[in-house]
Amino acid sequence: MSSDSARCPICDNALGPDAVIPFCSQRCKQVDLANWMDGTYESLVEGASLDGELDAREQEGSESESESED
Ligand SMILES: [Zn+2]
Repeated sequence: MSSDSARCPICDNALGPDAVIPFCSQRCKQVDLANWMDGTYESLVEGASLDGELDAREQEGSESESESED
């Protein structure tokens, strides 16, 4: 048994002194971030309030609302 050291979730290397927890290196951190942006992040944007796009939608909504009220 030698599971006394944590391992990088990206490359499965043992975390060394240069580790960027929980990754073994800055590079693996970037890789994880890229993966995240690629998949999860996109679906998050659709449901969450990310300023630009949501703002545009809200404006559209209130515009047609005031039109029918008028
Ligand atoms: Zn790594």
